Amino acid sequence: MIILGIESTCDETGATVVENGRKVLSNIVSSSVKLHNKYKGIVPEIAAREQVRVIIPVVNEALAKAFGSIRSNNSYKFGCHIDAIAVSYGPGLIGSLLVGVETAKTLALIWKKPLIPVNHLIGHVYANWLTVNSSQLTEKNREPLTMNHEPMFPAVALIVSGGHTDLLLMTDHMKFKWLGGTLDDAAGEAFDKVARILGLGYPGGPKVERIARQWTMDNGQWTIKLPRPMIDSNNFDFSFSGLKTAVANLVHSSQFTVHSREEIAYEFQKAIADVLVTKTINAAKRFNVREILLGGGVAANSVLRQQLTDHCRGLNIPVKFPPVDLCIDNGAMIAAAAFFNRKIQSPQKLQADTSLYFAPTKI
Ligand code: AMP
Ligand code: MG
Repeated sequence: MIILGIESTCDETGATVVENGRKVLSNIVSSSVKLHNKYKGIVPEIAAREQVRVIIPVVNEALAKAFGSIRSNNSYKFGCHIDAIAVSYGPGLIGSLLVGVETAKTLALIWKKPLIPVNHLIGHVYANWLTVNSSQLTEKNREPLTMNHEPMFPAVALIVSGGHTDLLLMTDHMKFKWLGGTLDDAAGEAFDKVARILGLGYPGGPKVERIARQWTMDNGQWTIKLPRPMIDSNNFDFSFSGLKTAVANLVHSSQFTVHSREEIAYEFQKAIADVLVTKTINAAKRFNVREILLGGGVAANSVLRQQLTDHCRGLNIPVKFPPVDLCIDNGAMIAAAAFFNRKIQSPQKLQADTSLYFAPTKI
C-alpha cells in the first residue's frame, strides 16, 4: 500500500511517499525556520504564508522522486500510483495546518483516493516504524540506526517536541494510554527559551546542543548544579519552566561572569536528559515493557539518545529512536501512522483541529 503523507502543522512542510507504512520512497521537507530566526521564535503568520508558497512544489517533488520523474513540476500524473493520502490534522498552528489539510482534501477528491487524518503527535511515535535508505538522509544524519527490528508491544513512548512532552503506554497499534506529561513548558520549549536567554537564536535545541558540546570537549567537569524538576515525584509528569527560570537567574546573577554559556548549556541539557530518562525508565519498569520509543524534535538530541540507550542497555530493554531527519516534522511519519490506522474520513468532513490531543484521563 502506497501512502502520500502530508505534514504542515508548524514551520515545516513535508510530503513523503511511503510503502506499507515502513519503506520511505521519497522524503521532501521544506522549512521556514530561517525566516523566524530574527524573531527568536515562530511567527504563525509567516509560517502559514510559507506553507502556502511551498506546499505544491513539495508534493510535486515527493511524487517525482518516488516515481522516477525528473520533471517535478508535472508529477500530478503520479496520483494514480498512490493508494491513499494521509495528513496531519492537528495539533498545530491553525494557519499552517489549514494548508496541509486543504491540500490533502483537494488531492483526495481529484484523485478519488481515501483520505486518512493523523494526529501529529502519534505520527512522531510512528517515525520508529520507518526504514530509510541512508542515501535519503542528509550527511549529518547518517549515523547508525539503533535497532533494525520493528518495535514490540507493550512499549513506552516518550514524545518530546516544541509544544509537547508526553509519556504513553502503547499496547498495540494505535492503542495508547497517557501516563503523564508536562505541567507547564514542553522540553523543546525549554530548550528554545534557554537558547534565547543565552542569546543563541531559534530553534534553540540544536544551538544549545552545539555549544554544550564545546564545553565537553574543552573541559572535564562543571561546577553549576541546576535543578532536576520532579525527578523523584511518584508520577509520570514533568515540569520544565522552573529549570528555565533557574538558567535565567544564573545568567542575570553576578555568577554569570564565572560560568560560560557553554557550561550552562551543558548542565541544562544534562538536567533535561536526566529527568526525561529517569521518568521514561520508571514507566518502562512499572509496565514491564518490551520496547522504549522516542519521538519528536527533541529526540534528535544526541545526549538524550545516548543517555537513554546507556541506561536501557543495563535493563535489557531495547530503545528505538528515528534518524535525526525523521525526528524533525515530516510527512513520512504521518504516512506510517496512517498505514497502521486506516480510519478514512471524507474530505467534505475533515477539519484541522488545533487542540487535538490524547485522552486527558491517566491510567
Ligand atoms: P517539533 O515540535 O517536533 O517540530 O520539534 C521542534 C523542537 O525540537 C524545538 O523546540 C527544537 O528546539 C527542538 N529540537 C530540535 N533539535 C533538537 C536537539 N538537537 N536538541 C534538543 N532539542 C531539539
Ligand atoms: Mg512535531
